[in-house]
Parts: sequence; C-alpha cells; structure tokens
Amino acid sequence: MATNEYEVDELKMMEELTINAHQVQEEVLGEILKRNAETEYLKGFLNGQSGKQLFKNNVPIVTYEDIKPYVDRIANGEPSDILLAEPVIEFNRSSGTSGGQPKLIPNTVELSKKRAAFHTLIASVLNKHFGDLNRAGKSMELMFVKPEIETPSGLKARSVTTSLFKDNGFRDILPMLYTSPVETILCLDINQSMYCQLLVGLIQRDEVVRIGSMFASAFLRAIKFIEDHWKELCSNIKTGYLSDWITDSGCKNALSSIMKPDPELADSIENICGCRSWEGIIRKLWPKAKYIGAITTGVMRQYTTALDFYSGGLPLVSSFYACSEAICGINLEPLDKPADVSYTILPNMAYFEFLPVKKDRVSMTQEVQFNGVSEQESIEMKSNNEDIEAVDLVNVKLGQFYELVVTTFTGLYRYRVGDILMVTGFHNNTPQFRFVERENVILSVDADKTSEADLLKAVTEAKTLLDPLGFILTAYTSYGDMSSTPGHYVLFWELKVKEDNDNKEFDPKMMVECCSRMEESLTYTYKIYRQQNAIAPLEIRVVKQGTFDALMDYYVSQGASMNQYKAPSCIKSKEALKILDSRVIGKFFSLKAPL
Ligand code: AMP
Repeated sequence: MATNEYEVDELKMMEELTINAHQVQEEVLGEILKRNAETEYLKGFLNGQSGKQLFKNNVPIVTYEDIKPYVDRIANGEPSDILLAEPVIEFNRSSGTSGGQPKLIPNTVELSKKRAAFHTLIASVLNKHFGDLNRAGKSMELMFVKPEIETPSGLKARSVTTSLFKDNGFRDILPMLYTSPVETILCLDINQSMYCQLLVGLIQRDEVVRIGSMFASAFLRAIKFIEDHWKELCSNIKTGYLSDWITDSGCKNALSSIMKPDPELADSIENICGCRSWEGIIRKLWPKAKYIGAITTGVMRQYTTALDFYSGGLPLVSSFYACSEAICGINLEPLDKPADVSYTILPNMAYFEFLPVKKDRVSMTQEVQFNGVSEQESIEMKSNNEDIEAVDLVNVKLGQFYELVVTTFTGLYRYRVGDILMVTGFHNNTPQFRFVERENVILSVDADKTSEADLLKAVTEAKTLLDPLGFILTAYTSYGDMSSTPGHYVLFWELKVKEDNDNKEFDPKMMVECCSRMEESLTYTYKIYRQQNAIAPLEIRVVKQGTFDALMDYYVSQGASMNQYKAPSCIKSKEALKILDSRVIGKFFSLKAPL
C-alpha cells in the first residue's frame, strides 16, 4: 500500500541497493578511501594509496579509544582533515548508557543529509504497511533534548536526536506531523517537557494515529508518568489552566495557544484512567493509533511485557537499527513481533564488516536453528577459527554471530561499534540481522561470563512464573556482588500488579522459584560453577515502583540523553547501585543449585 510515487521510488531504490549489495559496498569503500587517503590517520597505514586489499591488510580494526586522540585534537581546534576530508560540523554524543562512556562522533553535512534520507525511507516502509498516516492524523512521539556542549574549537557536541530536533527542516514539518510543539521538546527540564508533551497529546487524542518514542524505555516511562499525573492532567484539560509548576516560558507560551477549558474531554479521560486495571490503556486513550513506534529489540526487549499490557494489542514497531556512528539497518517487516525483528543492512550508508564472534562470547544454551545449522555447530565453527578475520557484508553466514565493524564517510575506519548481531536471513543479496546484545556488558563473578542476551533469556524464562499471579516485570538490571566469597549474581526487579487496586503481596515462594528458574536458564559455565559452589546462590532484590525511573534520572543527570537512553543490563557504577539498593523491598535467594 505505498501511497505515492515518491514512496514507490524509495522502495524501488531499496530493492536496487539490496540486489547490488556487493557492488554498492565496493563503491562505498572506494569512495571513502579516495576522499580520505590523504588524512593523517589513513596516511599512517596506507601511505596515500587506496585499494581494498591494502585497506584490509594495513588498516587495523579499532575501538573508540584508538580514534579518541584524533577526535580530541579536532575538538581542540585542529583541522578535521587529520581524520576525514569533509569538514566536521559538530560532534554527536553517543548515549553510552548500555556499556561504556559517551563518545564524541564526528558529524558532517553529508551524514546529516543521509540521516534525513533514512527517515524518509523508514516512513515509506511504514506507509506501505499502515497507509499514509501523515494524512490521517498526527504522531504523539515523546522527544527530548540534552544540553549542548561546546568544544574548545567552537564545535557543538550534542546527541543525534538533539541535533535532529533543532534542525530547521524538522521544525518546519513538526506542527503538521506531531502533537508536541517544538518548545515542549526543547525544554531541558525532563518532567516539564514530559508533562506538556503528554498534555497536548491527550488534548489532541482524537487526531493521534501513531504513538511512541525512539526507544521503548522512554515511552514506558511516559505511560507510568500518566499513571502518576492523570488527575492533574485532567484538571488542566477541564479548566484550561496549566499547572503552576510548569515554569518553562517556552512550554507555557506553546500551551497557552492550545489549551482551552474542555470538561467533556477531561471527563472521558478521567473515566478511562480511573479504571481498576490499566490493561489496554493506550488504545483507550488514543483510539485511532495504529501502532506504537519504539525500539523494542536488544536491551529494550525487557519492556515488551509491560508495553503489551498497556497497549491493548497495538503492534510494537521497531523501525530501524542505527547509532551515532552510522546508520545501519531498517526493519522491512514492521509488524514482526519484537523477538522476531530483523534489520536489513543499508549497503550505501557505510562500509560494513563483520567480526565472527568467538565461542565464549555466545551463550552455549541459546536454542536457535537456521537452515539446519544449529547454533551449537556454528559456535564450534567459530571456535576452530582462532585467527579471526572480518567478513564482508555479502559473505556473512546464516545463523552466525558477528560484531559489527564500520568504515564511514565521517572518519571511522574499521571501527568496532560494540554490537553483536546474528544473521537471520537475506533480503535480495543483503543480509538481515537480529540485534543480539552489546559486546561489553558482561556479568561475571568468577570464570563465568553472562552476556546481555544470556541474562535476557534467563529473565524471560523466570518471569513467566509471575504472569499467572497477576504481576508484570517492568524493568530489571543486574550486578555481580563480590562483597562476600564466593560472589553471586544479584538481579534487581521492579514489579507491577496488573490490577491497580489489588494490594497484592508477591509470594516469597514464587520469588525463590524465580531465582532457581533464572539459574537453570543461565549458561552452562554458570551452572557448573554454581554446582561447585564457586558461585553463591542467585539473589533477586525486588525494588519499589519508580526505582528504574530514578535510575534513568541518574544516568540522564550524568549526561545520557533521555531519547537515546538504554538501561544498563549490568550495573558497574557505585552511585547507580546505591539508588537501587536504597529502594529494595524484598530479597530472595535461590535454594537449590541448578542441574
Ligand atoms: P547511540 O549512539 O547513543 O544512539 O546508541 C546506539 C546504540 O543503541 C547501538 O550501538 C545499539 O547498541 C543500540 N541500538 C540502536 N538501535 C537499536 C535497535 N534497533 N535494537 C537494539 N539496540 C539498538
């Protein structure tokens, strides 16, 4: 159902790119090397020459730490061409919350244009499935910005989304396509911004045809925010007056032209929100919404149970896979369930290479089977190959795990993004990937190594026990507690009762059972060590409602962007741990070693 010729062209272009993936990739690499061969960085490896083989032989695969000195020099005023030929117009700050520290990634005019084109392509794919929603109504998308930092050279350092939301082109289309006025998005106080965006989203509820935020964590937070503030929101709608605590002048001005007393609307929202259960609340509040747009893959998978509960059956759509470093992939099947989503790599966006992941990086217990190659076999194939070489995009193998390496037009050469992906299929000649996990998030107390995906799998198994009891796990994280010997895994769980008026206590027996179920579902190595008492029993600490919001606030106060926030799967910061520990309302331990 592509709705206009322009969109048909976009989709046709996608087909051509994916059919000619090999050739497109060769051209992209050729162009990057031609343009940048004279940069100080590449000259050091290529001596001013280009050529794919030379590039592969001489240019090392690096991490951010390796290019940081160059980035810092540009930030301090040296010309961009020490790293890339095109002038750097600003730096993008990656969120860094699911793994390491925020990074500064060079941005150029060309990359900004590519990002805009990418958004158009995403819209074309979505329109194909949902019809032209831009004509049908507006999006209630929660959008937030972070303060910008200026580097000594005068270049701005800001998140990709802050850059996008401040772009004039975006501001021009905003009033037609979105419910949030720009002033509410640019408000730096997250609570005021959230309140006002939700208020205008509720006022325009009959126009809203799609709803969401970039990542699921921020969207779930918004729903919980309504849960805490709906009476106040309704009173504002009824009287037409904005609450006094909204002091941001931009927000106040923007809302003054939208708000007028509307007791009828306030009553209908009050009736919906006053219900005993909030199951399906999103559909009730925004009856014309066709889907929830928010990334729910990777570490965001943990929010799908809660979102399913609130959504009333609306599809959860994860449209793309991208990072500050590069635009990577698009989801061509937006209606796929979060667990099944794959992203098709866009061969024209960067030169992509893939490092086969070594045996011990991937869980021995995952049960994935593709085209007869079980994961176990693929792990063994990898383990025999000690001398790991990066594989080209078109040469990846179905069912195998890889770490993504990108070479971009913006000064990243053979750069490890830090994401682990698995090949799930091909669209034409271009591979499709499932996002598996961040590479550097490892929970470990001995020789065990539990990755983000291992943890997710164990939590998913254990939380099935909660469902029949009327509880939902809304968020979790973990911590390797080494304060006593042997060390043990600690899981922090935030639980929600399905029926709000129920004063339901969680059953201690069931929580202990959840601890055991988690242990049974962890890796083979974990289980062996646990049986040998080299690891002490796993512990679940239940935290009170709102704890994970407090955790998000903490990371946002430390520089993470609300839009790009990814809750850490494993806590390393003492401060973050304090926040969690101070809100614990119950502790439970596994009583038996897993078999
Ligand atoms: P940032 O640079 O702050 O935007 O963070 C980018 C990181 O977010 C990526 O490297 C991934 O780890 C994660 N990410 C981005 N898109 C997705 C996605 N569709 N599914 C899972 N994780 C994602």
